[in-house]
Amino acid sequence: MNKLKLKKGDKVIILAGKDKGKTGVIEKVFVKSRSVLIPKLNLVKKHVKVTKENPAGGVIDAERPIPISKVELICPNCSKRARVGYKITGKEKKRICKRCHKVIEIQKDKEK
Ligand SMILES: [Zn+2]
Repeated sequence: MNKLKLKKGDKVIILAGKDKGKTGVIEKVFVKSRSVLIPKLNLVKKHVKVTKENPAGGVIDAERPIPISKVELICPNCSKRARVGYKITGKEKKRICKRCHKVIEIQKDKEK
């Protein structure tokens, strides 16, 4: 049972670390390491090699995945920090917010 309660497109709040209290939208979920990548959060300095595109080389800010234990979902329905539960309707298992009991739909981002 490797299934994670968080999915790509979920809005979450950071619970610990230097980005505590900040919110972001999950860009990628790493099931094996049970962590999520959130753009512009949990940045670390990363050394890059000198390349044609980056002739100076140097240090850039790169996102590092955050363990899911350090983030919590923000419910798209009630906009509050929410624990995730499940509701089974027919063949489908849907995530629900334990606070407002509404189904949590994945927020489709406006990707091209
Ligand atoms: Zn809710």
